[in-house]
Amino acid sequence: MAIRELMEQQKKYYHTGATRGLDFRLAQLRKLKQAIVDRESEIIQALRTDLNKSEKEAYAFEISIVYQEIAHVIKHLKRWMKPKKVKTPMTHSGSRSYMIPEPLGAALIIAPWNYPFMLAFDPLVGAIAAGNTVVLKPSELAPAVSAVMTSLLRATFEPQYIAVVEGGVEASSELLEQPFDKIFFTGSVAVGKIVMEAASKRLTRVTLELGGKSPCIVHHDAQLKLAAQRIAFGKYSNAGQTCVAPDYLLVHRSVEDKLLAYLQEAIQSFYGDKPLLSPEYGKIISRRHYERLQHFMKDGKVVIGGDANDQTLQIEPTVLEAVTWDMPVMQEEIFGPILPILTYDSLDEVVGLIQARPKPLALYVFSEDKKVQDALLERISFGGGCVNDTLMHFGSTHLPVGGVGESGMGSYHGEMSFHIFSHMKSILKQTTMFDIPFRYPSSKMGLKII
Ligand code: NAD
Repeated sequence: MAIRELMEQQKKYYHTGATRGLDFRLAQLRKLKQAIVDRESEIIQALRTDLNKSEKEAYAFEISIVYQEIAHVIKHLKRWMKPKKVKTPMTHSGSRSYMIPEPLGAALIIAPWNYPFMLAFDPLVGAIAAGNTVVLKPSELAPAVSAVMTSLLRATFEPQYIAVVEGGVEASSELLEQPFDKIFFTGSVAVGKIVMEAASKRLTRVTLELGGKSPCIVHHDAQLKLAAQRIAFGKYSNAGQTCVAPDYLLVHRSVEDKLLAYLQEAIQSFYGDKPLLSPEYGKIISRRHYERLQHFMKDGKVVIGGDANDQTLQIEPTVLEAVTWDMPVMQEEIFGPILPILTYDSLDEVVGLIQARPKPLALYVFSEDKKVQDALLERISFGGGCVNDTLMHFGSTHLPVGGVGESGMGSYHGEMSFHIFSHMKSILKQTTMFDIPFRYPSSKMGLKII
């Protein structure tokens, strides 16, 4: 079906009101859950094909996150959909005030390739919960997952309600010309700007989940062994292709050597002596990205890892020392298994360095001192993050995730997902039992009983 025709069908279907009822939304969420359960092994296989994700990683980082999201929405949707009463000022005596959440209408979701299942289906759950129709555009760079998602959604839903359009820039550009009521985009900062420009032509609401360089700060009082394990987990899962992965380390000068030794230990315990042969270790999505990452290897000095296999497109978990801010590895988002280490002497220096750059999507602080933790959390602006851990904030249905400044616009997960796909309609319901004519031109103070 042509994209324009699909759009018209979805608008028509939306205006029948079919998608709005609580029972309908709950039934679709249950159908979606069952369809995923039925195809779990296909999804896991497709993630292995596109990204060499292990079954454990596929389940923990993709499938189970979507299950949690669906379960959370099913549990709370009835409450979220209820009109929200608010106070009414004295000047409005006799009336009541409330807000009714209504669906935005036809939603477009454009997904990236790095968590190609979870980052497509998590927003889909939010769009269904809020009562929208959806067109999903998966990433062309994860074709096996794109194919499984397409067959799953086509077998489960009518295209007038939920449709998939596969393809790359061309398909995406054509979709962006359509009169959607909401665009939810996850991807790079550069394409985020293209999406926002297209949306501005119709003033379509957008949520932009973007990227950037997320710092990870390790203070001298941190529990270094544990920090190294949690950093290696955050950086090398999915071969570093995680939007909220620690992009680079800022380590207090006095503990750099110790941290490096623990990092080496952690990498070895996760992936063995030869990570490139480990079934637990991922691959780089495409040759273009593989080559881009190879260029970063020329920056600074490799102190851990550094080997690569240009047949399987894998790069060892790598740590770089002696990097400077003017090197390409410190100028661009790395999005791969290369971790540069910079050292600092004072926290003021850390704050200054981060503040001088675009606001990051995530920030991680490893320290045992609450004062240090609080000072960094308060002084630095960033999307979200963890104290003494990495990535884990992303997997909570209670913590909205999203960026700020260049790292994105709007947050989602759980109730926030419901809100970004809804509009809160404000209503003042006035009494007709009496009137206060004072507001009318030339009227006198007083109450008029009707
Ligand atoms: P990308 O921006 O290249 O592509 C994302 C989507 O946009 C894909 O579906 C692609 O087909 C489409 N697209 C690409 N070029 C386009 C164009 N010119 N016009 C319209 N559509 C276009 O991003 P990616 O390479 O898939 O993902 C990597 C980036 O995404 C990283 O920067 C990463 O940090 C970010 N990311 C952010 C989050 C988050 O939750 N904030 C999650 C994952 C990835």
